[in-house]
Amino acid sequence: MGRSAQPAPLTLRRGLLISGLFALAAFAFPGLVDLVALVFGQPWHVGGSVTSRPALLDAGWHAAIGLLMVLPARDPRLYLFGPVLTTEIDVDHLYGAYLPTEVGRPAHDLFFLLLLVVLLGTVAGRAGAMLGAAGWLGHVSVDGGGFPFLAPLARATWSLALPLEVALAALAVLLFFFAVRPSSDLASRRNTVTVGLVIVALAVLLAAGGPALVQTVGV
Ligand SMILES: [Zn+2]
Repeated sequence: MGRSAQPAPLTLRRGLLISGLFALAAFAFPGLVDLVALVFGQPWHVGGSVTSRPALLDAGWHAAIGLLMVLPARDPRLYLFGPVLTTEIDVDHLYGAYLPTEVGRPAHDLFFLLLLVVLLGTVAGRAGAMLGAAGWLGHVSVDGGGFPFLAPLARATWSLALPLEVALAALAVLLFFFAVRPSSDLASRRNTVTVGLVIVALAVLLAAGGPALVQTVGV
């Protein structure tokens, strides 16, 4: 299997490589943000994260949404790695309450998405970059925003409007699909219908429960 334009089903080894690198990058990124902020002479400020039961509930929610997002791709390995990839940027829940970070939740940051795409694209090719981006978008679409997406260059936080959340979720579904299937596969009626149904289901979930749950949980 090479890095050709025709994607292949995900192997266990590639899935582990991609999700492992994703977790490492998410783990290391807060330190990188701290360093950049230090270099730019930003005033020190400690963000944080929660490590309690609501975070576990939130992780379950992200994993369940991730499973829904990979259903149309019908790749057995993605049933495992999809939920992992859509949950991993919350890895700071494991240490965020203990280690100071320059801003809260740095992996929910567009620069992290950029780093992830470059890193996974270099190591695991186009499909790797697509899976990483799908995981990030699939996660953030559910979180509803409220994060400093341009940290540490800007500290402002943005909330995502529902149509934008749905658009990001739909993009995640398509990226998961195209990462393991040739684009011509989407033309089949079965795949078009499945992708459409999943996007509608995501829109309903986001409208009905997603933002409410995130607000309650506050993560
Ligand atoms: Zn999150």
